[in-house]
Amino acid sequence: MTWTLTNSALDQENLLINESLFSLGNGYLGVRGNFEEGYQDNFKSIRGTYINAFHDEIQINYGEKLFGFPEKQQKLVNIIDGQAVQIYIDGERFSLFSGEVISYERKLHMDKGFSERIIQWKSPAGKIVKFHFKRLVSFVTKELFLIDLKVEPVTPVNEIKIISTINGDVTNFVDKNDPRVASSHAKLLHVTEVKQEGHINIIKSETENTKLEVACATTSNVSASNYTYETNMTVNGVEEVYIANGPTHFTKFNIYTDTYRHGRSTVEEAITIQNRVKGKSFATLLEQQQRYLNDFWEKADVKISGDQELQQGIRFNLYQLLQSVGKDPYSNISAKGLSGEGYEGHYFWDTEIYIFPVFLMTDAKIAKNLLLHRYSILDSARERAREMGHKKGALFPWRTITGPESSAFFPAGTAQYHISADIAYSFIQYYLVTKDENFLKEYMAEVLFETARLWVDTGHFLNGEFRIDNVTGPDEYTCIVNNNYYTNVMAKHNLLWAAKTYQLLKKKDPLSIEELTERLQLTENEVIEWQEAGEKMFLPYDDNLKITAQDDTFLQKDRWDFDSTPKEKYPLLLHYHPLTLYRYQVCKQADTVLAHFLLEDEQDFETMKNSYDYYEQVTTHDSSLSHCAFSIMASKLGYKDKAYNYFIETARLDLDNTHGNTKDGLHMANMGGTWLAIVYGFAGVRVKESGISFTPSLPEQWTSLEFNVQYQDRLIKVMVEKEKTTYTNLNGEGLEIVHQGEKVYVESGSKIECMN
Ligand code: BGC
Repeated sequence: MTWTLTNSALDQENLLINESLFSLGNGYLGVRGNFEEGYQDNFKSIRGTYINAFHDEIQINYGEKLFGFPEKQQKLVNIIDGQAVQIYIDGERFSLFSGEVISYERKLHMDKGFSERIIQWKSPAGKIVKFHFKRLVSFVTKELFLIDLKVEPVTPVNEIKIISTINGDVTNFVDKNDPRVASSHAKLLHVTEVKQEGHINIIKSETENTKLEVACATTSNVSASNYTYETNMTVNGVEEVYIANGPTHFTKFNIYTDTYRHGRSTVEEAITIQNRVKGKSFATLLEQQQRYLNDFWEKADVKISGDQELQQGIRFNLYQLLQSVGKDPYSNISAKGLSGEGYEGHYFWDTEIYIFPVFLMTDAKIAKNLLLHRYSILDSARERAREMGHKKGALFPWRTITGPESSAFFPAGTAQYHISADIAYSFIQYYLVTKDENFLKEYMAEVLFETARLWVDTGHFLNGEFRIDNVTGPDEYTCIVNNNYYTNVMAKHNLLWAAKTYQLLKKKDPLSIEELTERLQLTENEVIEWQEAGEKMFLPYDDNLKITAQDDTFLQKDRWDFDSTPKEKYPLLLHYHPLTLYRYQVCKQADTVLAHFLLEDEQDFETMKNSYDYYEQVTTHDSSLSHCAFSIMASKLGYKDKAYNYFIETARLDLDNTHGNTKDGLHMANMGGTWLAIVYGFAGVRVKESGISFTPSLPEQWTSLEFNVQYQDRLIKVMVEKEKTTYTNLNGEGLEIVHQGEKVYVESGSKIECMN
């Protein structure tokens, strides 16, 4: 059960949710779990196929447009639909909403990398037929989406007709009433070519404004004792019709290519790849898929004994992250991954704070790619900084695909300057985990220097303290404030590390610092300013409550009237004007509590504990990014029950649709958060300059917890039990680690047991 997600529900609401849950992807291509054969006429499926970063740009229409508001917004485009396979049994169209469904089961195999539906159906005329659909989006050939279908009559049938189409007449999903999905611009893609080359059917389409091209080249294999075949072309697509009179095995190979990865020869490339995979059996391609996944799970699996449902939850979340995370220089991971259109395919700070750490410690190559993508948009971030009036530095966009700011609502968008420090933070974490000096020289230094410049330009000194005014922290129910603690403390880290990196490089590699200084026109004086601003950073604190203040004014506001707020009014953002929310002490998500986790050495234990108790009372967790932070900090503070309960919220958030919007796509940051709550929470892992440390504490409900971490060329297996933790150094040289505050040495290839 823990490797498989199984479902047999066919009611309307579950169908939409399952389209997200059963989505397949490989970081490049993503396909929602729509039914090949279609639905009832009145059912609004969110039918979608996406290529990571493949987008259009649309004009943002403001009532009042002020200086520096982005003019355009990028938007992930729903591409050519290769999913459709209709089946007619003696003239009657197969549908799960007509005739009688004798049995129906759908499964997602997270260990093998495919999904299937096994159906026994009785047509309205009484013919009984078995259908077995399987689909796979290949991790090995990233352009390939494969559908395999077996149709087997149980009672005599005269004719089985299969109509397989590729359709370019597609639109994006819109919902005018939910700010978390797009409200307009459904039609973004236009067919430019429909043709056949040999047995390959091809559609090429182009986006309306960015003029990016996508092609889909499709072939099919049929095996049946006797069948006829014809192809029909329309302006928007191609349909293949197969007619057989007995059991039929049909396989459809869709190959997708796009301008980013395949240049202007999308069609030629698609044909070449098609010729490479065509004729391979589903079983062969599945074997490749399985090898890829074996490799992934060997490194990344987390084993929990004592709770099957949570075990399934963590595997599902890791699997979905792998399916959505970009693995090439053009892409990152969007808030909903490749599973839906919520947040329009944009990349947020979700990547750095919630998802990047998972890959950093399980597959550093993927983690590096995420950072390189940010590096690739550094010029856009510089431009944005100039647009925002900064003389120097880089301001990363709050939401984007290829660099330009795509947020139209600046109080909870551009004002979240912390994203620049979050990106810097993850570059530093990468360096600490890998000790990759080349990376530091080639990418990290520049990102840190440019973001440090931003902070110096944004903040100012007052009475000897460095202060940052008018920004928004992670909590989007409190906007445009002075001295948001999260922002200030992350900026401090950013500034001090920029200065440190400069000194480090100057000592180790004077030539490279010379080159960089010249290219960035950087002066030693600036480096002194970074150090000073970092050291003198103002961190708000409330003497009466003995807590970290979220910002200069948060604690002076009235507390939100939680007692009189009925359940239906959550999430508050859908029921109250932003200004109403800004006037109260009410948090959408972890803000100060998250900062205490990320930079725990900045405060003493008592302050963190008091702050946790305080902010927990005013946090709604309306954002799915919240629970994991509360779980991790609860583990640190010794609140074992809370740590566990918040963890449960993260582990099954999408599986149980607890936020009510899983239909729009899966919550990727929360999925990363599940791993964080285990590894940084229950096992208490921290990576600092001083090394890697663990403070494990197993939830009462479990008998053991096992996971791996990659750290400085080692792979360490960690097994936490009630009384003890066992560390095994699976490969690499011996390593000193810290367990419950004590240094221990794990020899290469051996294990060590430590009492918890
Ligand atoms: C959260 C943000 C997050 C965004 C995308 C919002 O609801 O408040 O912190 O970046 O969703 O996941």
